[in-house]
Amino acid sequence: MTFDPLNQVSPSLKKFNTFAIDCSCAELQIVSTTIELVDTVKKAFKSTKPFLVLGGGSNVLFTQNFAGKVIIIETKGIELQQDDNFYYLSVAAGENWHALVNYCLENNMPGLENMALIPGTVGAAPIQNIGAYGLEFCRVCNWVKYLDLETEEIETLSVNECLFDYRDSIFKSELKNKAIITEVGIKLSKKWQPVISYGSLQNFDLATVSAKDIFDRVCDLRTHKLPNPNILGNAGSFFKNPIIDANLYMTLAQKFPNIVGYALADGNIKLAAGWLIEHAGLKGFTLGGACVHKEQALVLVNLGDASGSDICHLAQYVIQQIKQKFSVILEPEPRIFGQLAEINISDF
Ligand code: FAD
Ligand code: NAP
Repeated sequence: MTFDPLNQVSPSLKKFNTFAIDCSCAELQIVSTTIELVDTVKKAFKSTKPFLVLGGGSNVLFTQNFAGKVIIIETKGIELQQDDNFYYLSVAAGENWHALVNYCLENNMPGLENMALIPGTVGAAPIQNIGAYGLEFCRVCNWVKYLDLETEEIETLSVNECLFDYRDSIFKSELKNKAIITEVGIKLSKKWQPVISYGSLQNFDLATVSAKDIFDRVCDLRTHKLPNPNILGNAGSFFKNPIIDANLYMTLAQKFPNIVGYALADGNIKLAAGWLIEHAGLKGFTLGGACVHKEQALVLVNLGDASGSDICHLAQYVIQQIKQKFSVILEPEPRIFGQLAEINISDF
C-alpha cells in the first residue's frame, strides 16, 4: 500500500510508533511480501531522499516529522523443519514476535516462553538481541538473512557472525544502516531446559515447571508491571542497564548499600537502571507531556500529547541526574530519529 505524497497530507506515523508521537513522514509504504520489501528498499536506497524501515515501531522515538519514506514491514511466513534434536524455524521479518512465541508453544516447541509479550517484529529481534527474564534472542538464533544495501545481495549470517551482546549486535555496529533483515532462523532444542534463574521465576521447581507455566508467569508479570502502549505511549525500557567495573561498583555499594547490581561473567557489574532512577527520586517526574512512569522508573511515557522533544528533554534530565548522583552514564535503548536520519540523544 503506498500513499501518494502529492495527493494528500503527509501520512501520520502516530499509529506506527508505540510512543504514539504525533508526527508524519513524506511517504509511507506497507510491504507484505519479502519480494516487495527487497524491491522497495532497493529503490528507496537509490533515491536521494532518506528512508527508514519499521517493524512494530516499539523501539523508536521520533523527534521531528521524517522528511523521507517510511517502509513498514508486514511480511509473513513461518516454515518449520526438524531433525532428531532440533526444530528449525525460518520466519519472515514482519511476523509478530509474541505471536511466534505463542505459535511455538501451541505446537509443542518450547524455548521462547521467557520472551513472551515483547512487542515488535521477528526481524527487529536480532538488532538489539532482545531479551527478558533471563533469556536473550542469541540463545535461540540459528541465522539471520538480510539485504545488503550496498551489494543488493541477500546475505546470511550465522549466530556467531551476528556478534550478539547485551542489547547489541552487528546490526548496530558494522552493519548499521547497511542491512535490512528479511528472514530469521530460530533453532529450538527438543530437549527443552527451563530458564528460571531470573529473580521472579526462581520459585518454580526445576523438575516440574512447564513452558506454559513460565509463559503465564511472564505474561502476568509484564501485564501488571508495564504500561500498555495502547493506553500510555512508551517504548519499554528507555535506558539500557549500565555495565560498570567492579571498582566503581564497590564505591557505589559503600555509599548506597541497597544498590541493585548483577555480576557478569567478565567481572563487570550490570546495574539495574530502574533502581538508579527510582533512588534519584525521579519516579513520576514530569516534563511537558513526558513522564517517568510511576510504577516502573525505567519506562518513560507519553502522557497523551508529548512531543518527541518532550521525551528527549526528560531523558536528558534523567541522564544528567543519574550522572550527578551515581557517576554512571545512562544510554537510551530506543533508536531516536530526527528529520533526516537517526540521531544521538546528545545531539538533540
Ligand atoms: P522498530 O521499533 O520498528 O524498529 C527498531 C529499529 O530497528 C529501527 O531503527 C528500525 O529502523 C530497525 N528495524 C526494524 N526492523 C528492521 C529490519 N527488518 N531490518 C533492519 N532494520 C530494522 N525489548 C527487549 O529487548 N526486551 C523486552 O522485554 C522489551 N519489552 C518491551 C516492552 C514494551 C512495552 C515496549 C514498547 C518495548 C519493549 N522492548 C523490549 C523493545 C522492543 O519491543 C524491541 O526492541 C523490539 O525488538 C522492537 O521491534 P520492532 O519491530 O517494534 O522494531
Ligand atoms: P526487574 O525484574 O525489576 O529487574 C530489574 C533489572 O535487574 C532488570 O533490568 C534485569 O536485567 C536485572 N535482573 C533481575 N534479575 C536478574 C538476574 N537474576 N540476573 C541478572 N539480571 C537480573 O525488571 P523488569 O523491569 O520488571 O523487567 C523484567 C524483564 O523484562 C527484564 O529482563 C527486562 O530486561 C525485560 N524488559 C525489557 C524491556 C525493554 O524495553 N528492553 C521492557 C520491559 C521489560 P535485564 O534487563 O538485563 O534482564
